[in-house]
Formats: sequence, structure tokens, C-alpha cells
Amino acid sequence: MAKHWLAILAALALGSAAAAQTTDAPAILLKPAAVFDGIDGQVHAGWQVLVRGERILAVGPALPSPAGAVVIALDGDTLMPGLIEGHGHLFLHPYNETSWDDQVLHEPLALRTARAVAQARATLHAGFTSLRDLGTEGAGYADVGLKAAIDQGIVEGPRLQVATRAIVALGAYGPKGFEPGVEVPQGAEEVSGAEQMVAAVRRQIAAGADWIKLYADYRWRPGDESRPTLNLEEIKAAVAAAHDAGRPVAVHASTPEGMRRAIDAGVDTIEHGYGGTPAIFAVMAAKKIALCPTLAASDATSRYRGWNGEDPAPATVRLNQESLRLALRAGVPICMGGDVGVYAHGDNAREMVLLAAAGMRPAEVLLAATSGNARWFGEAGRLGAVRPGMLADLVAVAGDPTRDIQAVRAVRFVTKGGKIVPLEQAK
Ligand SMILES: [Zn+2]
Repeated sequence: MAKHWLAILAALALGSAAAAQTTDAPAILLKPAAVFDGIDGQVHAGWQVLVRGERILAVGPALPSPAGAVVIALDGDTLMPGLIEGHGHLFLHPYNETSWDDQVLHEPLALRTARAVAQARATLHAGFTSLRDLGTEGAGYADVGLKAAIDQGIVEGPRLQVATRAIVALGAYGPKGFEPGVEVPQGAEEVSGAEQMVAAVRRQIAAGADWIKLYADYRWRPGDESRPTLNLEEIKAAVAAAHDAGRPVAVHASTPEGMRRAIDAGVDTIEHGYGGTPAIFAVMAAKKIALCPTLAASDATSRYRGWNGEDPAPATVRLNQESLRLALRAGVPICMGGDVGVYAHGDNAREMVLLAAAGMRPAEVLLAATSGNARWFGEAGRLGAVRPGMLADLVAVAGDPTRDIQAVRAVRFVTKGGKIVPLEQAK
């Protein structure tokens, strides 16, 4: 580690940091018990991984160690691609600490940003080297600045794809319940009509949005059932404007009609999808639209309301599990994303454990969280696989996570772009 940094510092003095990253830095030979490469779903005992600079150079059994290579033994561990969180909100913290309304209304932007910095670090240290952030929930464009701070090495965190403010139908989001004459800060940007939608999409892309996040349905009033919010014309206008700019579209949809509109409009991922029917999921599968089931969100909010985790589970939890099973049966691609922020950042594995409990094989869950998410997020050539030429985003966990998915919580070693992340409790 120290040697690696010295090499980079020396190269910086010579004005060739890039050269140091790719050629001058010592190679790292990792010797875990096994490698899960994120592609074939298998655990390969005895495989090793050679990293040079920011990339993986070689993978396989008994690799020769180049002269000067740093050899790191990871006894008993499985080495995998860095995990990819598919649905997070780094600017939120658990609702049992502070309600969503109070976070949006009462927490200053600087406080929310400072917390997001700490939460980004917790995410990386949990082995999640990438995260798709689906909206700052009232914290404006601060995610763009956080992403830049991480990319510039000012603070620790995962690689981010960000959605900035997200877009909702006028009057359909929150916080609510105020005297109508009072202007209240909202958790997302409000639009009405295709023209305003296009303007909002373009404004957000110009400000740094990698994704456009829409809400196709929501509770119009607190306590209501979710109902459609944006109409089909508005969603189609958003998709056209976003896709023209090369940005994909993620849609919150939990009602059948909200999902139908989003699918019809040609969006890229659907979030939650609780109300999906076999017919709806069949169209999603045909169009290769990925579903982020966010089982952990309904699990967490149910527990905040007093559920102890035992049977019978509340209706929302059962509906969520059942919709996942319908989606799997229909062949819908599954994105691993839990809506982290509703529950604690760093506990991203919670969704993986719940996906396995709901019927996915652990290896399928691991593939969803690695090469699957990389594919849905346009990173298949760079991330999500332990293969030569890929970025060296790696995580080693104790044990075999294809046997027991809980092993993903036992993080022993993390690299991002070939740099070792200093974990405080590395054993
Ligand atoms: Zn969310």
C-alpha cells in the first residue's frame, strides 16, 4: 500500500500520474480461496487475480507472480466483482431516525451533504463499489457534487450514477399537509404537461443527471392508495428527451397502470413493481426492462411500524415477495437494488439476503448485483466481472456466498480501480 502511494506521488512529481496508474505501479497478486467471476455463476477454487494499475490483468489458477508484485493472501475468502447497488438515496437516512418529511423540510443541505459523504464511505466499505442514486429527495443537485468529490479522491465512496432531483407530477409528491398558500420544499421537481417534462429532463441532464428518475404513480394524499400520476404523453416525452441525450430512464411504479404506462413509453428500469401482473411482467421481459424489486424497503418500513419479522408478514411485504416471484417466472431481468437510505447505508446486503429468502438462488442474486446491474446500467464493458481488462473493483468476503448469501456481509477486502480501500476492521 505505502509503496503504491509513494510510486504515484513520485510519478505526480514527474507529471505522469497516468503512467503510474497503468504501468509503473506494482502489480497486486490476490490469492483468495476462490473466485466468483460474476459471469458464469460458479465459484472457482484456487483461482487468483492479478491487478495492475486500475485494471485486472489476469484471472485463473496458479498465476505467475511478476517481479515486484505485492502478493496478498485472502485465506478462506471468495473474491468477487465489486457489488453494485441498483437503487440508493445517499441523501436520505433511515426513516426510524428521522421521518422523510422532516429530512426534506428541516435538515439543512450542508447537514444532508455531510451525512451523504459518510454514507458513501459506509457503502464502499460494505463492498459496494458502484451505486445508482435515484434522487436526492429535496437535496437538489448535491449528488452531482458528491460524485465529483468521490471521482477526484477528496472523499471515499462508490462510483456513482446519479439522477439529481427526480421528476414528479405537479401536486403528487410530498411533503404535504400544509395550508395551501404556503410554499413547501418538495422532494422532487414538479411538472405538468409534456412541455414542462421535457424542460425538466433537459435541466437535470445539463446539471449532471446520468439517469432520469420519474414517478409514474404515488399517493396523492397521505394515507391514499397509490394512483397513476404522470400521464402516458408525459412519460413518453421524458423518455424521448432523455434517450436523445443518451440518458436512461428509471421509473417508480407500484400500480399496474403506472407500470403499463412506463413499459409502453419504453423506460429502462422499473422500481418497486409491486402491482405487476403476469401479463405486465411478460411485456417487461420481452422488452428487457429490468425490475428493481426493493424488497428491503417494504421490509424496513414494516419493521418501523412494529413488525417483528415473523409470520404472518404484513400485506405489503407479502405483495412485494409475490410480485418478485411473478417477475422471475416471466423471465424479467432482476436489478439488485433495495432503496437503501430508507434503511442504513452500508446495509446494502439486506436486499440480497431478502432476494434469496424470496426464492432466488444465491448465485443468481450475486449475478444480479454484479454483471446484471453492470449491464442494466451501461457498464458491462468495465464493471461487474472479474475478467482481464475490466476495472479492478473487487470485494473479498469470508466464506462462500453462493452457499450462504449472508457471507456478503463479511467483507474482508475491497479494491476500487485497483486501489485498496483501507477497512477499519479488516481481520
Ligand atoms: Zn427510492
